[in-house]
Amino acid sequence: MGSLRRRILPRSARLPAIVLGIILVTLGATIVGFTFSTETQRALSAIRAQNRDVRVLQLALLDLETGARGFVLSSRMDYLQPYNDGLKTLDGAKATLATLDRFVASSPGAVPGTRTFSALVAHLRAEIATMVAGAQRGGAEVTGPRVGLDSTKVTMDVLREYIVDFLTIGTDSANAAEEDLAGMQKLLLLLQIVSGGTILAALVFAFRGTARESRARAVAVTQAVGSREQVEHLFAMTDMLQSATGYDDANAVLRATVRRLLPNFGGALYIFNNSGDRLDLSTAWGPGEADPAAPKVITPSQCWALKRGKPHLNLGHEGALRCGHALGDQSALEIPMLARGEVYGLLQIFSPNLTGTDLDAIRPLAIAIADSMSLALSSIALRERLRNQALRDPLTGLYNRRFMEEVLESFAVQAERRQSPLSAIMIDLDHFKKLNDTHGHAAGDTVLRDVAGVIMASLRKSDIACRYGGEELIILLPDSDLETALAKAETVRIRIAELSPSEGVAVSASLGVASIPETSSTTEELTAMADEALYKAKQRGRNNVVSALRKGAIGRFVELQ
Ligand code: GH3
Ligand code: MG
Ligand code: MG
Repeated sequence: MGSLRRRILPRSARLPAIVLGIILVTLGATIVGFTFSTETQRALSAIRAQNRDVRVLQLALLDLETGARGFVLSSRMDYLQPYNDGLKTLDGAKATLATLDRFVASSPGAVPGTRTFSALVAHLRAEIATMVAGAQRGGAEVTGPRVGLDSTKVTMDVLREYIVDFLTIGTDSANAAEEDLAGMQKLLLLLQIVSGGTILAALVFAFRGTARESRARAVAVTQAVGSREQVEHLFAMTDMLQSATGYDDANAVLRATVRRLLPNFGGALYIFNNSGDRLDLSTAWGPGEADPAAPKVITPSQCWALKRGKPHLNLGHEGALRCGHALGDQSALEIPMLARGEVYGLLQIFSPNLTGTDLDAIRPLAIAIADSMSLALSSIALRERLRNQALRDPLTGLYNRRFMEEVLESFAVQAERRQSPLSAIMIDLDHFKKLNDTHGHAAGDTVLRDVAGVIMASLRKSDIACRYGGEELIILLPDSDLETALAKAETVRIRIAELSPSEGVAVSASLGVASIPETSSTTEELTAMADEALYKAKQRGRNNVVSALRKGAIGRFVELQ
């Protein structure tokens, strides 16, 4: 199991595990070493403190004895001072006496029943006290106290021997502890050097790993797109595509970038239509300045790239798997354009003169271009959907009145600049209230939607149909004079009336037409006069078209014969 894991784990993943192990072990050892040296330090301090206390006691005993001896021999009172100091120190050294008692009891030569250290001290004190008292009473000539001097010396010698033994052993253990500490500190230093070195080595390793990875990535990117210059062009393209407001903008950016990046290749961009059943040619270019012969429409089922959802190379030679839309024996690289999980279109890169190998070589670059473009297309599509939602009436799919008012102004400015006419057809369904009352509101909605469909199908690309309000609709016709607009109104009237059999109810509409500059001067006048003409059409019996009167004519309306 372990060996299998090792085989699976790459070398680069194994090394950090070893490094981590070393760091953990040295860290553990450092903690243990640290605890040990703290303990040793504490023991050393205790030994030193005991030795110091014992030395203080030793001095106190000496003061006691020499003071007493001086007084007895000289009867000088000032010798009583060290004697009294020694007594005071001994009174406060109960703990030290206890330590020495334990030492005496545990020393190798100790015989059961041996007097304890404190018992000996008490005996010494009693002897000296008797001696001092005798000297105070009888003066220096008295022999008793002098005899006492000899016996206290014996006791003092025993005590001194114990103290020297204790201090020798204490100093030895302090030295040993000091040696332990020094050794441990060396070991700790070594451990710190090892763990520090290991961490440093790991950092260097990690840094080298990251540096290697980013170098590899840079190499991959460079290989993928060819050169730094190409990357810069791609970034610039992505940047510009973000500010593209519509398909025309995006196409212009795409053409400029691809012409520069792939000057020997031609290309085409296809975009799915709204219903998603076909792709319309959005733009095509080169190689060179000539526009290539590219089919206007592609059906998804013809295209291997779209069917498989991956780039496909249409090779020029016989027997190759080629898309149904491929032209002649031209080699072409087909890249489906995916963004946010949706396919937006197809990017084609081709060249009449180059081979499939040439196309294969630029595949990564072409894919990078397609990726940028797909994102831009998805943003434009989203923006367009949102715009349409705000501009269009949901029932009929026609533009709403707010949009109509905006667009009417810009049409009028355009008409004036170009000295071209602008016409409006106002439409109102006949007896629609009755239709609603008789067949229900839902049936009314269906009729309204179908009428809108008929109107849209009758218009040029530049005409705009809007729902003006209720079942009243308006068509704006830029570049149409009154006569053309009247003809269009008549066509619309007939087609609406023709809906009757399929709807199962009588459907008809009355229409009023006005035109700048023939009948009206301003946009307000244009809609008002079209509306008045419509009113007139209703008065005339409905299902007919009425034109506003040309300027200078008497009255405001003419009927269409
Ligand atoms: P006229 O021939 O004089 O125009 O008669 P009319 O009944 O059509 O009269 P008018 O234009 O005044 O009536 C408008 C009717 O259209 C009233 C309203 O119920 C109906 N209507 C307006 N908007 C809608 C709609 O969105 N759906 C449906 N089903 N009916 C609508
Ligand atoms: Mg009506
Ligand atoms: Mg109405």
